Amino acid sequence: MDDCIFCKIARKEIGKLVYEDDTAAAFDDLNPRAPTHVLIIPKKHIEQLAALLPEDAALIGHIMEVANAIAAQKSIASSGYRVVVNNGRAAGQSVDHLHFHLIGGRALGWPPG
Ligand code: 5GP
Ligand code: ZN
Repeated sequence: MDDCIFCKIARKEIGKLVYEDDTAAAFDDLNPRAPTHVLIIPKKHIEQLAALLPEDAALIGHIMEVANAIAAQKSIASSGYRVVVNNGRAAGQSVDHLHFHLIGGRALGWPPG
């Protein structure tokens, strides 16, 4: 997608990646809500969680592994962290490229607002 901000970040046209491989990329959130706030995305443009296809299952599983690896690298694996997807406007989705928020480094309230 030419005009998708997260596709542009994945293509390294803007911003800075903290992780990338063939299918996934990760970068620090522009407006971090915690000491660690990383966004992990599929390089493939998928609009939202609800748009996943059966063929995306391995990709999404891989992104969970990437989240665990980044959490370990950021030294929040033992203290605890959260992986969140906002699906749709009422849930807070503001960028229409599927992204997983990896949040940690402080105590996190539950349930989220
Ligand atoms: P959402 O609200 O869709 O679940 O999350 C979108 C996230 O993307 C927000 O936390 C917001 O701060 C972040 N964000 C929006 N635009 C950019 C950008 O251009 N660069 C980066 N690094 N993060 C962005
Ligand atoms: Zn995109």
